[in-house]
Amino acid sequence: MSEKLAGKKAIVTGGSRGIGAAIARRLAAEGAQVVITYAGNKAAADAIVADLGEGALAIQADAADASSVAAAIGQAAGALGGIDILVHNAGVAAMAPLGSTGLEDYRQMFGVNVEGVFTGTTAAFPHLNDGGRIIIIGSVNAHTMPNQGGALYGATKAAVAQMARGWARDLGPRGILVNVIQPGPVDTDMNPSDGPFAEFLKPYIALGRYGHADEIANVAAFLASGEASLITGALIDVDGGFSI
Ligand code: NDP
Repeated sequence: MSEKLAGKKAIVTGGSRGIGAAIARRLAAEGAQVVITYAGNKAAADAIVADLGEGALAIQADAADASSVAAAIGQAAGALGGIDILVHNAGVAAMAPLGSTGLEDYRQMFGVNVEGVFTGTTAAFPHLNDGGRIIIIGSVNAHTMPNQGGALYGATKAAVAQMARGWARDLGPRGILVNVIQPGPVDTDMNPSDGPFAEFLKPYIALGRYGHADEIANVAAFLASGEASLITGALIDVDGGFSI
């Protein structure tokens, strides 16, 4: 590893499992000091932190709870001494068609996937260093809808995509880059590659296979690095050709 993120201070939300854990590991391997948040899985979060090296920390924070998010970001920024890289990864997905969803489902999905991104970025704003990075893990469901039941989830991911473009404009003068990674199917607890949903999705994937969390982490590490210096406001599909 070239350690292209040496000295950088990073926060990864939802870093205890899946894509977030892979991103946290990769940023740390590139030399960043990493703080992760998690919802409830302390044992998994502690296990990841043990792999992240010096100065790593796990903080419990429900992304749907604004005060919890603000406290966690404040604690993380204090421990790190500023923020260079903020990765919004925490997310929930529940597929249910119209008629099976209510306001509670709407509030839960938007609370974690959209409000959490807004409150987290707002809390991080005073601590963000010039030249920093905000990376949001969206989804190809922001612009494609191959299955029934994805209305709420897709709407949350479309919302954060456009929020990112707005923030790219707001923060451009400070050299802070804001980008969205939009994964297709990735093998995690949220979307296991061996379930019935996977059998529905697989025929749409040009590469014929699910993605690995590490393949999303590769792109996050690139966007966090100096090599991405001209990329901001971009929505980058990383989906094995799922949405073409
Ligand atoms: P997982 O369900 O495997 O992991 C979710 C992570 O988010 C865990 O660390 C979990 O913490 C945390 N989390 C869940 N709810 C909350 C909450 N309310 N507050 C704080 N943290 C929370 O999901 P994935 O790794 O698959 O997904 C990560 C991101 O990638 C999500 O934004 C998802 O929408 C997106 N995505 C995933 C795809 C896929 O196919 N897997 C495809 C496209 C996008 P804990 O361990 O404590 O529960």
